[in-house]
This record gives sequence, structure tokens and C-alpha cells, in this order.
Amino acid sequence: MLYLLRYGELALKSEPVRRRWEGSLVRQLKALPGVEGVRRERGRIWVEGEVPEEKLKKVFGVVSFSPCERCDLSELEEKAVEFCRREGFGEGQTFAVRVRRTGDHPFTSPQKAAELGSLLQRTFRGLKVDLERPQRELFVEIRGEECFLFSRVVRGAGGIPLGVEGRVVSLFSGGIDSPVAAWMMMKRGCEVVPLYFDSSPFTRPEARERAERVVRILSEYHPGLELEVREHGKFLQRMREFLWRKGEERYTCLLCKRRMYRVGEELARERGALALVTGESLGQVASQTLENLRVLDEACSLPVLRPLVGLDKVEIGELARRIGTWEEASREVGGCGASPGRPATRGDPERIRELEKELGSE
Ligand code: ATP
Ligand code: MG
Repeated sequence: MLYLLRYGELALKSEPVRRRWEGSLVRQLKALPGVEGVRRERGRIWVEGEVPEEKLKKVFGVVSFSPCERCDLSELEEKAVEFCRREGFGEGQTFAVRVRRTGDHPFTSPQKAAELGSLLQRTFRGLKVDLERPQRELFVEIRGEECFLFSRVVRGAGGIPLGVEGRVVSLFSGGIDSPVAAWMMMKRGCEVVPLYFDSSPFTRPEARERAERVVRILSEYHPGLELEVREHGKFLQRMREFLWRKGEERYTCLLCKRRMYRVGEELARERGALALVTGESLGQVASQTLENLRVLDEACSLPVLRPLVGLDKVEIGELARRIGTWEEASREVGGCGASPGRPATRGDPERIRELEKELGSE
């Protein structure tokens, strides 16, 4: 099988950046199971081998691709007819021929398209031309003396090649939101280190298992993706008792998240990551008010990226379905037994710093 791949934003880059990005994309394609060869030429990549389309759909940087056939320009007419016969072109269908061409040729693209179109009409009786909304399409890319024939354009993952933007630590609960947030960063070229906080006994073991399963799903987009797990339950236990004594249980969730941010920052430094990523979205739940996000941001010095900030629950759900994490991530694993009845929606930064100081010196 031969695939023709298109990639988008690379074209906007300076020459050295483009070379680096293309190189990275080619390396990732070569590492796919079944790939026998990868060839790159300005603006296009060809992948040869028994590669399932599902795998190609998960490579960031690929805007779209087409399973195609190669032939020489001298045999184009004959091969186009054979190709369309195999594709089932025929009686009563509408069709269009689309030609693109690079190199020096005595014909223009529209001329070649018209020529091939009338040949197909003579060969397959009852075929009607419809350039607007055809049922069938034959695409022909002519590059010098080489031609590529295809009939389908499959949407790819888009974005930019994985890893070219550097590394981030993702606070990864395995719920619906944070895996989508992690995926969006991958799509923008970031290598991701997913970090899960295990709050048992306040959460069930299923919660951690869910995070592990969701990571496995995302690893299809990000080879080698592995969940980092940190123990968080003992801290929660101690912090809860402390806040309870102070009559400030409403700050439980903020103090909990602030510790996650700090531990996330430590891990980021160890792993050379430049930012944290969370699945927070503005106003989604009590803890995600603008005031509270500010309180959280103050807990660490790295930028905190929140790719879902402007999305609502429905949009995030649609993305999760497209990515393939929805089913696993929406599985009920029980809530957090540490959350207070009435969590603070407008955390007072001053008070929180005081409480943390006291808690830390206990
Ligand atoms: P999600 O759908 O990602 O679980 P949520 O809507 O349940 O998010 P919160 O529980 O307030 O919202 O969590 C906000 C963010 O904090 C999450 O998106 C995630 O980035 C991070 N987070 C929450 N719990 C954990 C955890 N156990 N381990 C790691 N990160 C977590
Ligand atoms: Mg959650």
C-alpha cells in the first residue's frame, strides 16, 4: 500500500524549522508498524507498507492522506481507467477528475482533467460529469514523469509533529477533561508526561486504573506515553484534619490542587518540562472560578496551560469521542471522599498562604 500524506502548517515556517519538523514527522512515520519506506519531497510525504489507516490518523502533523497508486506519465490513461474500474465507477454515477501538476508539461491541469474525463465517459457508459458535488472523484497528482492516482482524502490528526515544541507535565486524572487537555498539547507538538495523584483511601483503586487505561488509549497518539503516579492520600489526610481544626474545610480542594501543582512543578524540573497542563475550564465547577484559578497559579512558577478554558462540557465531550477516550474516561469510579460540602469559590490568596505555612510547619 502506498499513501500520499499532506501536512499543513509546516509550509509557514522558516527553512531550518521546517527541516527539523519534517525530519521529526518522517522519523515518527518510519516508526509505525508495517512501514517499509518513507519518502519526502517538498510539501508531500509518501509512506509505503501495510499500515492501517487508523495508525496514520493518529500521527500529529498529518493534515490528510490518501491511499494512492503510482504510475508513469506515459501510462496514465491506461492506469486511470484500471483504477476507476477497480473503484467501481459506472452507470448512472456523477464524477469529476481533479488534476494537479508540477513540472514542465505541454498540457495544463484543466486540459488533462478534461482529457481524462472524456476518456472515462467513453469507457464507462452513463457516467455524468458533476464538478460541484460528484459522487465519485478521481484525483491525479502529476509530479514530473510520475503520477499518483487516488479517490479518497482521509482527515488526519492535524496539528504539528509530536515533540517539536518541547515537553509539558499534564495533571492527569483520567476523567473526561484532563486527557482531552493532554491530547490538545500533543497536537500542538508537545511531548507529554502525564501525572496522576493517587488519593486513596479517599478515592477508589478504580480511579487509578482508569487513568492507566486512558493513558494507554492516548499512547496510540504518543508512543511511549507512561503514567507517573504520586501518592497524595497521606497529605490529604493530614491537611483535612488541620483544616477541620481551623474550621476552614472549604479550602480543602484548593490546598489539594496547590499541592498537585507544586509536585507537578518538581516533576517538570526533573524531566525538563516547560509548563503544566490541566483540564480546567472556566466556571465548569465550583473550584474553577477565575479567583480560584489565580490562587492555583500562584502555587507554582511555571506557566499553567489550560487548553479547555474556553470550551463547554458538550464541546469537550465531542473531542473526547473523536480522540477515543470518552468511553473509558466517563466510566464511574466514585468521587473524592475528601471534598467538603461547600468548597470555596472565591479563595482568599492571603488566607491560603497563611494556612499552608502553618500546615507546613506542623
Ligand atoms: P477531569 O475531567 O480532568 O477529571 P474535573 O472536571 O473532574 O477534571 P477537577 O476535579 O476540578 O475537574 O480537576 C481539575 C484538574 O485538576 C483536572 O483536569 C486535572 O488536570 C487535575 N486533577 C484533578 N484530579 C487529579 C488527579 N487525581 N491527578 C492528577 N491531576 C488531577
Ligand atoms: Mg475529575
